[in-house]
Amino acid sequence: MESVAHTAEHAFIGTLQKILGRTLAVQKVEHKKDGNTAFIAIPQLDINTIVRAENMVNALIAEGREITTRTYSSLEEARKANPALRANEERISGEVRVVEIAGHDVTACAMAHAGNLKECDFFLVTRLSKTPGEYEVDFAVGRQARDAAVSLSTRMMRVCEELGANINTVESTARKVKSENDANFKKLKALTEQRLESMAPEGSGMKVYKGVFADLADEQIVEFAGAKIAEPNTVVVIANQGADKTYFVLARSDNVDMDCNKVFRDAAGADGRGGGKPHFVTGVVSKEKAGKITDEIASFALRLN
Ligand SMILES: [Zn+2]
Repeated sequence: MESVAHTAEHAFIGTLQKILGRTLAVQKVEHKKDGNTAFIAIPQLDINTIVRAENMVNALIAEGREITTRTYSSLEEARKANPALRANEERISGEVRVVEIAGHDVTACAMAHAGNLKECDFFLVTRLSKTPGEYEVDFAVGRQARDAAVSLSTRMMRVCEELGANINTVESTARKVKSENDANFKKLKALTEQRLESMAPEGSGMKVYKGVFADLADEQIVEFAGAKIAEPNTVVVIANQGADKTYFVLARSDNVDMDCNKVFRDAAGADGRGGGKPHFVTGVVSKEKAGKITDEIASFALRLN
């Protein structure tokens, strides 16, 4: 129910304000069928803070804090009577409704609210994400929150299974997997660089770096091509067979008269995908034809001499 979810949002923002010791600007709150989102303009909001706020909101729900609504003739009157009032001032004109969660939060708000926090039953934050200038906090209440808790813990167990991790140490396992992956990728890039740098170019006037490789780092091939074509009269044409696709790079110096898009399209044929700029194209080609395509483009480039 929207009024109940909305009331939980008041409790949550009030709690966040207490933890952070500052007034928060809630840009907007969306209440949809599948969940709710609060958009909060704040430079920094971390998971620890969110969890503290969640626990406090659930404690207020368990206590059954009363909710009362009063009406004032103006925002000024409302402020006089409620010094701690939260209000989004530019949106308020004329008569002001003030919603108070007993001993917790006082907000100017025209929407419908629950009569007691108990109606929220259970409050759960399901997602925290940062966008430029604000944080989005997804949350659920009641039955929806209970269902979300079951579904999130199921996912957590599946993540543990996938990682072969213990639930108590899953974060450190994930960090370890990530740092190992980063380290391995760095090694692969270094090996790729060595392998590519050992290539001797074909041709004399026009230098053509041609190669068909397997399992090198695509990113490093792009970097290599970028560095080589800084020199004039240079063409780089490289295919790299990976686990699921054959990556392709075709690049040339500024002074070489070749439309890489066209040359790539003509050579790669119907099963080639990709494109880019006239001097730099990346794409995917058929594994079987990779050698032939590379040869064809290299001979074409050598004839440009
Ligand atoms: Zn409200």
